[in-house]
Amino acid sequence: MSIQPILRAVVCAALVALRLGAGSGKTVAASDAPRADAMRYRSGVRNAPGKRRLNAAQRQQVLQSLREKTGWQSLAFDEAGFLVCPEPQVINGGSAAARRLLGAALNGAEVYELENHNASLAINFARLTAGVTYRFFNSDAAISESSLQLDFADFTFLRGDELACRAFDVGVAILHELAHGVWHLRDAESDGAEPGACENYINRIRRELRLPERQTYQARVRLGTLEPNPLTRVIAELSFVSGRNTVKPQLYSLRWDAESVGPIIPVNQAALASAMANVR
Ligand SMILES: [Zn+2]
Repeated sequence: MSIQPILRAVVCAALVALRLGAGSGKTVAASDAPRADAMRYRSGVRNAPGKRRLNAAQRQQVLQSLREKTGWQSLAFDEAGFLVCPEPQVINGGSAAARRLLGAALNGAEVYELENHNASLAINFARLTAGVTYRFFNSDAAISESSLQLDFADFTFLRGDELACRAFDVGVAILHELAHGVWHLRDAESDGAEPGACENYINRIRRELRLPERQTYQARVRLGTLEPNPLTRVIAELSFVSGRNTVKPQLYSLRWDAESVGPIIPVNQAALASAMANVR
């Protein structure tokens, strides 16, 4: 059984690069919108209004995690499905950096729709689509809309230390994608740039929450087994560290069945072919 990193799994495949800069993204007239609705021109973060809407349990999972990360206990979804924080001055713990980021998204000029993409093999945990600009006919009114796609099932595949799981839960995934959308922070695109500007900010949030910091954007991938499945599979792994600047840094890891969660980007095709041939 190989323990060498043979592949890399891209944990977030955000399409943010497509929406950088003025005038980027697609523009459509309101009448052409596939599902025009009364809230089309309200900005913020909302539950998707269509078939991809989060169900009650998923909304509760999102609220529980974001309340913990921000300390904002009044976070809720309003009747129109928008995430609101009616009492931002009421704070119970949480991270100031998380409040800055989520506050910028809630009060910004764009809209981010939370979509349910359960058990999608196209998505590793979460993904942000390029913004689409909707314009009214005969009006200057316009709004950029991005889909923040969440694969809740992926999080059930995570195995590892509890602190690492809390450092990589659905609320953190939402904050990561919002950092792409709101502030255009990028993921690492090479080993030398790890973990990248986006995860550097999310690590600031983790430090403020006394959670371990993610060491790399890209996951290491190897062949192995993961309970309860006795079969050899392609296993992805992320490392986390706390007390980085102390004499005794504490290491944590998260592992998951990469074939069940999402796409894998190979370091080289020969390694991928060899690995996959040994899997089955
Ligand atoms: Zn990302």
